[in-house]
Amino acid sequence: MARLIDGKQISTQIKEELKEKVSVLKQQGKEITLAVIQVGADPASSVYVRNKKNACEYIGIRSLAYELEETVTEEELVRLVEELNDREDVHGILVQLPLPKHINEDLIIKTISPKKDVDGFHPMNVGALTIGQPSFVSCTPAGVIQLLKRSDISIEGKECVVIGRSNIVGKPMATLLLQENGTVTICHSRTKNLKEVTKRADILVVAIGKPKFVTKEFVKEGAVVIDVGIHRDENNKLCGDVDYEDVVDHVSAITPVPGGVGPMTISMLMNNCVESINL
Ligand code: NAP
Repeated sequence: MARLIDGKQISTQIKEELKEKVSVLKQQGKEITLAVIQVGADPASSVYVRNKKNACEYIGIRSLAYELEETVTEEELVRLVEELNDREDVHGILVQLPLPKHINEDLIIKTISPKKDVDGFHPMNVGALTIGQPSFVSCTPAGVIQLLKRSDISIEGKECVVIGRSNIVGKPMATLLLQENGTVTICHSRTKNLKEVTKRADILVVAIGKPKFVTKEFVKEGAVVIDVGIHRDENNKLCGDVDYEDVVDHVSAITPVPGGVGPMTISMLMNNCVESINL
């Protein structure tokens, strides 16, 4: 029977540690502030934003909410981000994605000061990560590394296969696994013989964005499987990119959905916010 990697428990542990750090900072007269900008009222984005605000409140981080109309112009949004960049009392800036089509996301990400870019999406942070310099790291892949480390799963020397090469998950995930001395392969939609490649993995990270895509034919017996995906299945139940029922008896450890990678993303965001006070 596979070991369950409990993201809920590990993320709670991280939040408790951060709460403690924030309380020490407060005693030194330092208060961390995160500015959260949402454009429009997309229901999924509203849920994410609410969860982020709640996490801030729990840990003791002040959050400033900017709820902008769907019709806000790119120039207005750039101006707001620049104002927040200049404010000494604001340490982190988060613009909830996706943005409406008339706004260039890349431009907005580039406008955020790299020192306040708690999502880790700014090209300077991505570049710093690539060359192994201190940087804000994209929260979901950073959370995966914490899940592995805190479950005593060593990465060094392991065959690590990542399915997916997005800028926010797949690519930084591969970079982080490499930094931990894994032997890393990245797969994508043009990969030939995907199953053959994924079956080499001691650690398989799946971020493909297709519900229950990975079945046991993709997985080596005894591998560790990390499922980044999040979807609703035909019964409206949450599921991942991995067919959990099919794979669970075949692997040594696995993250469930929900309760695996998902809760880690927000904890790592909070971690980046706490680190932002030192920049
Ligand atoms: P994405 O931008 O859609 O990227 C999906 C990747 O999978 C792409 O690189 C794509 O390859 C690859 N791919 C698609 N079909 C494939 C196939 N048949 N064989 C091999 N590779 C294939 O997705 P994402 O933003 O990285 O997110 C991935 C999943 O994680 C989604 O389910 C998303 O909802 C979830 N997610 C969860 C969290 C969390 O907090 N838990 C955070 C972020 C994302 P190409 O590049 O060649 O197109």
